Amino acid sequence: MIEEVRQRGDLVELVGEHTRLKRAGRTFRGPCPLHGGEGPNFSVDPQKGFFHCFVCGEGGDIFAFPMKHLGMDFLDAVRYVAERAGVEIPDPREEAPQADPNQPLYDANAFAADWYRRQLESDTGRVARDYLQKRGIGGDVVERFRLGWAPEAWTAFGDVARSQGIRNEQLLAVGLVKEPKQPGREPYDALRGRVIFPIEDLGGRVIAFGGRVLDDSVPKYLNSPDSPIYHKGQELYGLGWSRGAIRRAETALVVEGYMDYVSLAAHGVPNVVAPLGTALTPEQAERIARYAQRAILLYDSDKAGLRATFRSGDALLRAGVEVLVATLPKGEDPDSLVRSKGGEALKKYLDDAVDVLERKIQILELRDYFGSISGTRRAIDALIPTVRAASDEV
Ligand SMILES: [Zn+2]
Repeated sequence: MIEEVRQRGDLVELVGEHTRLKRAGRTFRGPCPLHGGEGPNFSVDPQKGFFHCFVCGEGGDIFAFPMKHLGMDFLDAVRYVAERAGVEIPDPREEAPQADPNQPLYDANAFAADWYRRQLESDTGRVARDYLQKRGIGGDVVERFRLGWAPEAWTAFGDVARSQGIRNEQLLAVGLVKEPKQPGREPYDALRGRVIFPIEDLGGRVIAFGGRVLDDSVPKYLNSPDSPIYHKGQELYGLGWSRGAIRRAETALVVEGYMDYVSLAAHGVPNVVAPLGTALTPEQAERIARYAQRAILLYDSDKAGLRATFRSGDALLRAGVEVLVATLPKGEDPDSLVRSKGGEALKKYLDDAVDVLERKIQILELRDYFGSISGTRRAIDALIPTVRAASDEV
């Protein structure tokens, strides 16, 4: 049991709650929370599972950290790590364990994920099954990512949920339903006529949903709003599934959204994550830095895609991650590429990925910024944030 907790626990994440860590090669460095230092003298080695301070000399494993920093005994430390790792440990000391006030929200989401899942298997789900099949997403992948189908109906989900005793208050809080437009009516289902992608936390609990339409109608993607259990700027789609593969590859591939993510997974590319907005936030970049020292950005090469690429790139550089940009052929995205040419074909483009600053210069050159003094000046303005981000120290 203790070994399982040690395996599943994440030392970098745990320590990261108490000090700001930045990747430095294979380890992470930051100010020591134990003696309250300011320089980056505190080192965490995620591979070995140890931390060490070069100033005060304290060090140890994942359980030693809460013991030394929070004054816990060993058992409490194990519990503390287990809770964060999503490992359940029965507590003999507590008669009635304190209920998590957010538990009803997790329960509502778990119920919804299960219900969407069953709709995908039902007759009404045939259109969605065909859609996924055409994209090379088979039953095993559907199962792994718990994909589902929200039928084209206004209160189909809400009616069933309410009949199972789930209150509107909870459904509204996680954004599964929306306030009725006319008073006196029941709230209506937020996701309708969409393939459903449950968004999980690292412990595998469903914290939100993404939905994609089957045709070209807009919005193409619709996601749960922020809630007490979901903060979209901090979560990364797929991190729970991919973190092992990202660590092994020492590289995280960053794609635009969950459709690309699932498609790559279905075609044998496992070390991927996707932000739940367009560009990575600083929090998301720091999360990626805990698992990989290198990231390859795999966005569309249209205008919006490039903007997201460079914003994400700067955020990753600031988090201490080396950033490369892969450029796919015009009109292709990761999903379309692996579908038409397979997962192996992607490798060539990843091998050809160039440093983010170099890519920025390439694009400015293509747009002829360096042909005049005023253009060059604007080009330099565009390059400075990236140069700065790369040289930021802890
Ligand atoms: Zn120290």
